[in-house]
This record gives sequence, C-alpha cells and structure tokens, in this order.
Amino acid sequence: RFEGVSMAPPDPILGVSEAFTADTSDVKLNLGVGAYRTEELQPYVLNVVKKAENLMLERGENKEYLPIEGLAAFNKVTAELLFGADSPVIQEGRVATVQSLSGTGSLRLAAAFIQRYFPDAKVLISSPSWGNHKNIFNDARVPWAEYRYYDPRTVGLDFEGMLEDIEAAQDGSFILLHGCAHNPTGIDPTPEQWAKIADLIEQKNHIPFFDVAYQGFASGSLDEDASSVRTFASRGLELFVAQSYSKNLGLYSERIGAINVVSSSPDAAARVKSQLKRIARPMYSNPPVHGARIVANVVGDPNLFNEWKQEMELMAGRIKNVRQRLFDNLSEKDNNVKDWSFILKQIGMFSYTGLNKAQSDNMTDKWHVYMTKDGRISLAGLSLAKCEYLAEAIIDSFYK
Ligand code: PMP
Repeated sequence: RFEGVSMAPPDPILGVSEAFTADTSDVKLNLGVGAYRTEELQPYVLNVVKKAENLMLERGENKEYLPIEGLAAFNKVTAELLFGADSPVIQEGRVATVQSLSGTGSLRLAAAFIQRYFPDAKVLISSPSWGNHKNIFNDARVPWAEYRYYDPRTVGLDFEGMLEDIEAAQDGSFILLHGCAHNPTGIDPTPEQWAKIADLIEQKNHIPFFDVAYQGFASGSLDEDASSVRTFASRGLELFVAQSYSKNLGLYSERIGAINVVSSSPDAAARVKSQLKRIARPMYSNPPVHGARIVANVVGDPNLFNEWKQEMELMAGRIKNVRQRLFDNLSEKDNNVKDWSFILKQIGMFSYTGLNKAQSDNMTDKWHVYMTKDGRISLAGLSLAKCEYLAEAIIDSFYK
C-alpha cells in the first residue's frame, strides 16, 4: 500500500545543509541555513543559556506537563519583551500569549486560527519571503497572495508597489510583515515607511500579522527591533505576532517561541486564548518546558538579561564585520565596476546577493558555496577569513 507514495522534493532551505554534508571538498562553505556560527565557523551556545541551565539543574526542576498554553513565567516575559512591560496592551490585559513550537509552530497555530475564524480572509505575504511562509498557510488551507516588496533594480524596497498591493487587497486581509531583518532580503522599511504602512493597514481594516524571528539580532537592540510592532500596537490595532528564540538566544533545537494576539478588550483576548488552546491540544497537546525555562530565567533576571544583551551585540557585531569585509573584498576584486553597497544597507543574518538561480548553481557546483537558489547567503555562517574566497566566487558567478 505504501508503494504508491511518491518521493517528496528536498526542502529548499534544509535540503541545502544535506547537500553540504555530502560534499567532501575542504573549501566548502555552508551559507544556506540561517544559524549563527563563531569566527571559527562552529555552532555557538550562549553563555547565558549555560548559566540558566545550571540554575535549572541546581533547582532540580521536574518534568511535569506544562499547561496547554505553556509556562506562565515564559508567557509573561516574552510578551513584555516584545511590547515593552509598560505598554498599554500589556497593562490592559489585551494580549493572549500562547507558548508554541518556536516561530514556525506559532505561525502554524495562528494560521489554524485564521482558517477557523476568518475562512474568507486572505493572507498577504511579501514577495519574496521566507520559504516556509507559503508552506505554513498552504498546510493550514488559508488562501494567500503576495504583495510587492523587493525591487531588483535598486536591490531595495519597492515601497510604492507594497502600498499599492496592500491597498488593493480586500478589506480585512491579514498582512504578514517581518518585524525586523526581512528574510531573505535584509531590507526593512524605515520608521517613516512603517508609519505609512500602519496608516494604510488601519484605513483598510486589515489585520497585521508580524513574524518576529530576529528581535535583538538585527540592530543589536531588543527595543529597536521591536519598534515596528510597537508602532502598530500603540495605535490600538488588533494584531498577531509570532515570536522565535531560535536566533537571538541560539535555541534552534529547543523549539521555543510564542504566538501573541492583541485584541481590543481583555475579554476578547481571553476568548482568543481559549481557542488557541483548543487548536493546540489535538495537534501537540502542550509545549516543551526546557527552552521556556531558559528564556524565563534569562529575561526575568536582570544580570542574565544584561549579559544576554551583550552577547547579542557581539553576535550582531560579528555579522556586521563580515558584511563590511565582504563588501570591501567584492569592490576590490571587481575594480569598483559594480556598486555593491546594497550589501551594507541590508541588515540581519542574510544578504540577498541578487544572484539568479544559474549563478547560485555556479556558486555551489564550481565553488562549493552552499546557499539557497534565490541568491540568499547567510552571513552568520561566514568568517572574516573566508570573505575573500566568497567574493571571488560571487564575482565569477555574477559575470558568468
Ligand atoms: N520566520 C522567519 C522569517 C525566519 O527566518 C525563521 C527562521 N529561519 C522563522 C520564522 C522560524 O524559525 P523557528 O521555527 O526556528 O523559530
């Protein structure tokens, strides 16, 4: 009976790591998946995470089930970190927060909620976006369309196109927005542009749906990276925010994140939360505790919190250094023919090189540089020492 099952295609992002592992070359570089590496290209466990884990061991915490909505101490600090502890949405009890399986699981839970309560609504996704967004909404049977975002001519934001498409969407659509460090482009709206986007979304009665996977990782400041979300929340809009601690606390495999739903009243928030729990129960019953305790310990303790901010600045700083070096090497090797400054303007873990599929294939086939086929490279997987090699590979592939 299983003879009829066909082979699924490899995942466009995680499949890159599989191909990398199979390559025996010693010059190979994995710039596919967005995971932070040290200058020696080794995975990094944050010191604050180790300290929090030691505390947890000392306390001898048990492994009892969590409630469906997750660890209360985690849900409290995660919403405060996002909106700011003194934000009216927190003070007025208008946020429903449910701990979920990192960013992906939180998006998926919200998608299931949209499918049930807004069966006629569409979700608008930026073009391009993180590859899994479309999968998530497809899987939840939520219809989606795209809004213009990236302008290949300027390697920048197509702001006019974005506004036009949001304007043209049916009133009451969900607009998926990247809170900071847009993946894959690394191009974010300015604060003035965010304000205009919020004006339009408000006017059209749309529901903003933020995906925040890089808070603190983009600029190095937790508050600055949350400012887009806070702009919208301060207008009294109802909105969704999916949060992830994969990158900013390096907790990739702990699967820790949350879905936050801001409602117009505490009563509505309580009802929304009850429905999110109802959706979670038959899917995975309740979330894992370990990552939630780590976050609650780090964010809830002033000393660990400060140390975390320093480590995050260090990580964000290393990526900025690599960005600068790559730009320098590219400009030098190219004899300043092409303007590569877009690399410096992009923020976050990624750089969107503008390389097309054939050029990206050349990067992998000839140079053993593994990257997604949309031309995205993860600078978090690059060291200063490898920038020159990478610049050579990019120049060769670009002029092919
Ligand atoms: N959203 C975006 C934009 C991302 O880049 C990622 C991670 N690559 C995620 C969500 C979710 O990651 P996770 O499920 O590990 O939290």
